[in-house]
Amino acid sequence: MSLPKPVFDAIVKEQNAAADAIRELISAARARHPGRKSPLCEEAAPQSRTYYIPCAAPAARFVLSERGRVVYAMCQPCADHNVRNRGCQDLGPTGAA
Ligand SMILES: [Zn+2]
Repeated sequence: MSLPKPVFDAIVKEQNAAADAIRELISAARARHPGRKSPLCEEAAPQSRTYYIPCAAPAARFVLSERGRVVYAMCQPCADHNVRNRGCQDLGPTGAA
C-alpha cells in the first residue's frame, strides 16, 4: 500500500520545513558562541542554584529541547542525561569536540 500522492507530498513538505527549522536553531546555537570554533556546553552546571552557571565543557552534541523550540550545545555527558531523562533529542555532533 502506498500513500496517496497529495499526502506523501504534504509529509515531505512538512519534513523539509522541520529540517529547515532545525538547521536555523543549530545556526542560532553556533551564533551564541561567536569566535569559538568549538561551542561550549550550555547545560546548567550542577552547582547552579540561584543563578544560571553553564557547564561550559567543550560541546560535543547539538540537542533539541523537549519542547522542540531551542537547540543547545552540550558536552557528551549532559547530552546523554538530557536525552535519557528529559525527552530531548540528539541532533548530532557539533563537529568540534
Ligand atoms: Zn555539559
